[in-house]
Amino acid sequence: MALGLGAQPFRLPTTNRAILDPDGGADRYFVGTAGKPWTSGQFGCVRSGGGQLHEGLDIRPMQRDRRGEPTDDALCSVPGVVAYVNTRPGLSNYGNYVVVRHEIDGLEVFTLYAHLASIAQGIRVGTPVQAGQALGRMGRTSNTRQRITPDRAHLHFEITFMVAARYAAWHKAHMEGTRNDHGTFNGRNLVGLDPAPVFRSQAKAGTGFNLARHLRETPELARVLIRQPTLDWVRRNPGAVETNPVAQRQGTAAWELSLGFNGIPLRAIPRAASELPANMGPHRLLGVNPKTLEQFPCGKLVFKRGQLWTLTAKGQQHLELLTY
Ligand SMILES: [Zn+2]
Repeated sequence: MALGLGAQPFRLPTTNRAILDPDGGADRYFVGTAGKPWTSGQFGCVRSGGGQLHEGLDIRPMQRDRRGEPTDDALCSVPGVVAYVNTRPGLSNYGNYVVVRHEIDGLEVFTLYAHLASIAQGIRVGTPVQAGQALGRMGRTSNTRQRITPDRAHLHFEITFMVAARYAAWHKAHMEGTRNDHGTFNGRNLVGLDPAPVFRSQAKAGTGFNLARHLRETPELARVLIRQPTLDWVRRNPGAVETNPVAQRQGTAAWELSLGFNGIPLRAIPRAASELPANMGPHRLLGVNPKTLEQFPCGKLVFKRGQLWTLTAKGQQHLELLTY
């Protein structure tokens, strides 16, 4: 039976398909940063010698006009609704960009399309969009001092999750004096998932691909326990919740979250009061997987103080946002 593209949760966001080439087409798919190999265009700890996170894929164009500018369209990856459009490139290192909201396997997911030369007509907040629909023209807009040169023009594509739905209010209260030009879609409030294994595993599994299961199988950096009976992130992502008979019987007093290296929640377990450690504060770091930290050192959420794993200031802030 032929597998229709529509049956798959994510389709490639441009006509470049080299990432699925079984003989290894990655060098024809990714664009590296200035003077660096294609590997620096992948998702992960690929910048500044591994210390800096690149939270999306930089995808190479397939067609250019006579002036060398790309003419590829950025194609919506999954059906959804436009959630945010930035048309003031000077306000973001993403330049002109579009964010689309999706509900997949019980998860609230966003896809993001950045550095666009222009935004397609009719694409504004609230517009329903189909998979494969053009959202804009690939380009190289950005507010960075070092501009993106024509040879490096690319689509920056993300699959991302929103940390706090009330981010704008949190920013106002906690980041006094700093601008927040993009409301809830501030970069601090979005945590990305590597799209490459999503594309590759669903190309293999077809309709058998499940995003919630894929999240659960993503390497875990840390487990945290949050003493709150309800959690906004859990409410928005019921697909990540696992069952716990004890909490089912006794009621939920806290949530145990598994976090990926960049703080992305991978799964959530409800915990009953009887299961909590004694003298527990508002939250507790339950454990860290040093292998994940070694593999992905750029998240910078935890560190070892003597023999004890501790949250960094960035990790503290992330938890604060997750529980806001
Ligand atoms: Zn990028």
